[in-house]
Amino acid sequence: MRYSLYSLAKQAINGHRDWPKAWRNAAPKSRYDVVIVGGGGHGLATAYYLAKNHGITNVAVLEKGWIGGGNTGRNTTVVRSNYLFPESAAFYDHSVKLYEGLSRELNYNIMFSQRGMITLAHSRHDLEAQRRWANAMRLNGVDSDLLTREQMQSYVPALDYSPSARFPVVGGFIQRRGGTARHDAVAWGYARSASALGVDIIQNCEVTGFELGSDGVCGVHTSQGKISSGKVGLTAAGHSTLLANQLGFRLPLTSYALQAFVSEPIKPILDKVVLSPATGVYLSQSDKGELVIGGGLDLYASYAQRGNLPTVEAVTSGMLTMFPSFSRLRMLRQWAGVVDIVHDSTPIFGQAPVKGIYLNCGWGTGGFKAIPAGGWCMAHMIAKAEPHPLTAAFGLDRFTKGALIDEAAASGIAH
Ligand code: FAD
Repeated sequence: MRYSLYSLAKQAINGHRDWPKAWRNAAPKSRYDVVIVGGGGHGLATAYYLAKNHGITNVAVLEKGWIGGGNTGRNTTVVRSNYLFPESAAFYDHSVKLYEGLSRELNYNIMFSQRGMITLAHSRHDLEAQRRWANAMRLNGVDSDLLTREQMQSYVPALDYSPSARFPVVGGFIQRRGGTARHDAVAWGYARSASALGVDIIQNCEVTGFELGSDGVCGVHTSQGKISSGKVGLTAAGHSTLLANQLGFRLPLTSYALQAFVSEPIKPILDKVVLSPATGVYLSQSDKGELVIGGGLDLYASYAQRGNLPTVEAVTSGMLTMFPSFSRLRMLRQWAGVVDIVHDSTPIFGQAPVKGIYLNCGWGTGGFKAIPAGGWCMAHMIAKAEPHPLTAAFGLDRFTKGALIDEAAASGIAH
């Protein structure tokens, strides 16, 4: 739809009353072929790919709040595929490739900006470990380049390069295809396209229990009544263990608060994503000019979406150690999301111990980048009742077989 300047001004004054809705606000039907619990990026992408790739459109996404109101709308939007193990590299790189075409696929601008993701080395030892890391990425077919201190000075001039720097910058490495995307747009774009294909998106609809028969799940109880379905996908991030408890099994997950911070907008100063494992801080600059800052977990289990003060202090002091010139910057906002942490920092993906229940969780601090591939593989698993080859190694059975995929070192700051 095209708007003249006059009609745009009119819409702004009347609160955009006449703009078409991006997705239908559906009322729940009594039965669906597939029910997805959780309207974050993974749930919405799953619904979209079920309809688009598999022709399954009698699907409901049930969201207890508003879509994207969980971690999908709370994260720092970093997209990368700089993992160590072949299984993770193949999965996350598939996700980056889907991100590369996502604005066109959804006809919705998700503002994917491949500005490059830099990991800093603060010592010779850091650099040796990063050489190993960058080589592992290349062996997995993922782009990576080691950077010298001089290259770093030209890429990120605002870092502290003085001889007295607490954490001297000796180099690092870059994944040039890494970057950021607009988180809300990813949720809204998938929601709009899924809705257009016939998926029902139902907000303010909390799943409060499950209907189990002799042959597995046969429905869900919700705050808007009972809904029947023999296939239920769980994409509830930090609340996955609560749903598993209702189904009578336990997940090896712990929920923690992870915080993020946004500064007042300033002129362009940082056109890369920069992460320092030593200070425990990473940051990027948004298109609006705000610095988007992330750090480590609040290190105790919690369902609070606020976060504690010691972490605020650790992140801000870490940022100032890296960028002393930001000391006069004012913070605009701070918040937290409830993330689902697994011991080996690898997601849990597969059929649950209850027939008809499909799991997609354990993304911890890094599942935004995984949304397109997570939805793609989850849709395949639900449609075909077998794991997609890209997620076959991520099943629950890895905890009994001892086949853990330990990606803690590549999980950024918090894991
Ligand atoms: P969510 O977006 O949390 O969606 C789950 C939904 O389920 C929620 O909307 C919730 O309301 C709903 N729900 C829960 N229980 C029920 C119920 N009983 N009934 C109905 N609905 C229910 N990842 C990256 O890749 N890059 C980053 O830079 C990054 N930074 C992060 C920074 C922060 C501060 C946080 C908190 C996370 C960050 N992450 C990052 C992680 C990323 O945000 C998550 O892994 C990802 O968004 C998970 O998506 P999801 O769809 O699984 O979960």
